[in-house]
Amino acid sequence: MNRLVVSFLLLVGCLASAAPRQDPQDPQPGAVLFEDVRIFDGKSAQLSGPTNVLVRGNKIATISTAPIQVDGSATRRIEGVGRTLMPGLIDMHWHTMFVRPSHTEILVWDLGYANLVAGAEATDTLMRGFTTVRDMGGPSFGLKRAIDEGITAGPRIYPSGAVITITGGHGDFRQTFEVPRILGGPLARMELAGASMVADSPDEVRVRVREQLMLGATQIKLTASGGVASPHSPLDVSTFTEPELHAAVEAAGNWGTYVSVHAYTPASIQRAIAAGVKCIEHGQLMDEPTAKLMAERGIWLSTQPFPDEAAKAFPPNSQEHAKALAVIAGTDRTYTLAKKYKLKTAFGTDILFSQSQAQQQGAMLTRLVRWYTPAETLVMATGTNAQLLAMSGNRSPYTGKLGIVEEGALADLLLVDGNPLENIQLIADPARNLVVIMKDGRIYKNTVPEVSAKR
Ligand SMILES: [Zn+2]
Repeated sequence: MNRLVVSFLLLVGCLASAAPRQDPQDPQPGAVLFEDVRIFDGKSAQLSGPTNVLVRGNKIATISTAPIQVDGSATRRIEGVGRTLMPGLIDMHWHTMFVRPSHTEILVWDLGYANLVAGAEATDTLMRGFTTVRDMGGPSFGLKRAIDEGITAGPRIYPSGAVITITGGHGDFRQTFEVPRILGGPLARMELAGASMVADSPDEVRVRVREQLMLGATQIKLTASGGVASPHSPLDVSTFTEPELHAAVEAAGNWGTYVSVHAYTPASIQRAIAAGVKCIEHGQLMDEPTAKLMAERGIWLSTQPFPDEAAKAFPPNSQEHAKALAVIAGTDRTYTLAKKYKLKTAFGTDILFSQSQAQQQGAMLTRLVRWYTPAETLVMATGTNAQLLAMSGNRSPYTGKLGIVEEGALADLLLVDGNPLENIQLIADPARNLVVIMKDGRIYKNTVPEVSAKR
């Protein structure tokens, strides 16, 4: 054998030994039986009658109003006593790596430390009942792998990898002394960290998109308008040209997935749609013709009701603070338009730079009742969000249906002490009201007293 073949075989051997690990103290359960629960299934506005649900491995095996016969010793029984069983919540705009560090800290952080902080936050995220997040920018591939291997408890992650931006665009966090950029020259700090990449032509965009796909991105994120947290981009600007956006759409499409863009203004949203972009993030400055266009083309709107406190992440009187206030002011009109034109609307929080705001992740969802019923709100954060996740096609890292309670679906389940369709505020206090949190068939929290197996 020549040396090349030998080293190839050695490499295959190394990869094969990197099998997923799980904590031996907490083995994957054989089966879990939820007895006497009422189901919110992720699509219906009503709870089911009293029902039993059997989970085997990582999937929902049986849903039945009749008693389910199980092997008593190998099955954990959870006495529901009429509590609500629902799908795990999904946050479609999350930044796993940027939740806890401050705005300035992310530019100087040590990546090893940052991953440990993000891991701790991922565990808290799961404990708030969010069993899946779509990461809309940041170096989350390593954390995702550690979670999938059972090393760290956290949600499923659909990573975008680095945000792709233009020079001066949202996500270009360079200092002015780093300009001019030498084409083909050294990378900036944020690029080396995998947080964001600058691309200024269709060719550069293609390279950056393909790099994220190579690393495991499930969708691609570009910034098509100015942004709040970036130092050099005014809110009103359009950034990428249509050919640049199209280069990203083509590269992602070749990989079987889609591009989502950060965009606030009508001009930037319309240009992105013309280039073939399938999902708009935020959209808080949109107008009526833009909403109409999105409806006609079946474009997703992934947005959030930013609370007034979100502006407090920035120094008072700073440009960032003023931009945050403008976006917050547009929230009501955007949701009104989304409802009027029946836009496919996903929910994501986009909580950044604040552990205390992250603790309000569930509370932020409940703010949607200003525009939607509690049932519509919870359908959005489960079944509807999962439809947008499914746009990743074969690039989805997880096999099976998410966001829904039905036989054969992945067992990401919450047992709620009460009826969230009547009282959605239950979701705002997960420590108290989420009595069971299950992801992939594994129980991460259970405060319901165990039933003896003898019954
Ligand atoms: Zn974001």
